[in-house]
Amino acid sequence: MAKIQMTTPLVEMDGDEMTRILWKMIKDELICPYVDLKTEYYDLGLEHRNETDDKVTMDSALATQKYGVAVKCATITPNAARMTEYNLKEMWKSPNGTIRATLDGTVFRAPIIVKGIEPCVRNWEKPITLARHAYGDVYKNTEIKVPGAGKAELVFTAEDGTKIRELIHTFKDGGILQGIHNTDASISSFAKACFNYALDTKQDLWFATKDTISKKYDHNFKDIFQEIYDADYKEKFEKAGIEYFYTLIDDAVARVMKAKGGFIWACKNYDGDVMSDMVSSAFGSLAMMTSVLVSPTGVYEYEAAHGTVQRHYYKHLEGEETSTNSVATIFAWTGALRKRGELDGISELMEFADKLEKATVATIESGRMTKDLALITSLKDVTICNSQDFIKEIRKTYETL
Ligand code: NAP
Ligand code: MG
Repeated sequence: MAKIQMTTPLVEMDGDEMTRILWKMIKDELICPYVDLKTEYYDLGLEHRNETDDKVTMDSALATQKYGVAVKCATITPNAARMTEYNLKEMWKSPNGTIRATLDGTVFRAPIIVKGIEPCVRNWEKPITLARHAYGDVYKNTEIKVPGAGKAELVFTAEDGTKIRELIHTFKDGGILQGIHNTDASISSFAKACFNYALDTKQDLWFATKDTISKKYDHNFKDIFQEIYDADYKEKFEKAGIEYFYTLIDDAVARVMKAKGGFIWACKNYDGDVMSDMVSSAFGSLAMMTSVLVSPTGVYEYEAAHGTVQRHYYKHLEGEETSTNSVATIFAWTGALRKRGELDGISELMEFADKLEKATVATIESGRMTKDLALITSLKDVTICNSQDFIKEIRKTYETL
């Protein structure tokens, strides 16, 4: 069989530790035998980031803007321990943070559903995609530990010197204070990314805040979403047969627990942080969670939701066998290849992505899986595969489809 040809390269961002090992296996076994893979390669492994003073991360983000689609391997976000381990010149920023800031994107996370790995919530039949606003609020806060009695005020000084002043609280004794912000531009980008993603995936969109209590701050989120929806998306949603609705965050949480799934849940930054961990763990495993960053201009960066699986990597370095789950990383590749195929009008590439995903799911459903899934599956006859063998089993399944 001739290999599938590509016209535009994918931006390929290589990464660190165990996921870097899986990365190569996936390419060698599952992609390159079938696709004449065209990529523009960026090595975001920590050593190379350090050598290039992290310029490679910025370059990869700019290349993503240029080509429109990227696939990213998990990378180390340096901390004090990594400074020593990798003898770093600086504590480089999180690559995901840099890429997110450059693309001004929203992160969408969705679980991969397979029979035999049942969600804890029995009525969740379809995936729930979580969209998290990744700017501002408590993540860019200013805090004061109030030492004693006094008056706290919120002051805004305009460029012309005019002031807006509000009393926060008159303290009789010690306490705490916090200042947070967001911008209309960032909220608008978030809203557009959510509406576009809903149209793209033909799913309803839910959005929730606490606007009954936060009558200006949260209400602003609600208003911006509604204005953009009414102006640019209402008709498109009606045509696609999907729905946008706004509700209170507590009502949304209650409804999500009773829902069947199959929708996108857009959350403010903090809600998204907390709820995405709840949703992913309730669906079974972090190793089965995909993640895609979508910019308001329609640029896509695909990755797995988990990290570099450091503990497994150290075992691997000691020559021990590992059983690391490659599913989310495989789906990062299929997501990116499918999107490339869609943008370039290459249906074979889209069909390849579908078929590889089908082979991955079918392999697990036949009882061949990595250890993390074997521990939680309801299937009876289970074969635990090592990292390499699991990928080889997927290839075998692929060949039978
Ligand atoms: P992690 O890599 O997600 O792994 C945490 C634990 O979850 C693992 O030790 C493993 O549990 C389990 N796990 C995660 N993915 C798995 C997989 N594919 N297959 C099997 N088990 C899996 O998180 P971490 O250890 O906290 O972080 C390691 C590094 O990743 C850090 O340097 C962090 O900065 C980075 N990170 C990167 C990203 C990203 O690039 N998007 C995201 C998060 C973290 P057991 O050990 O019990 O088997
Ligand atoms: Mg979190």
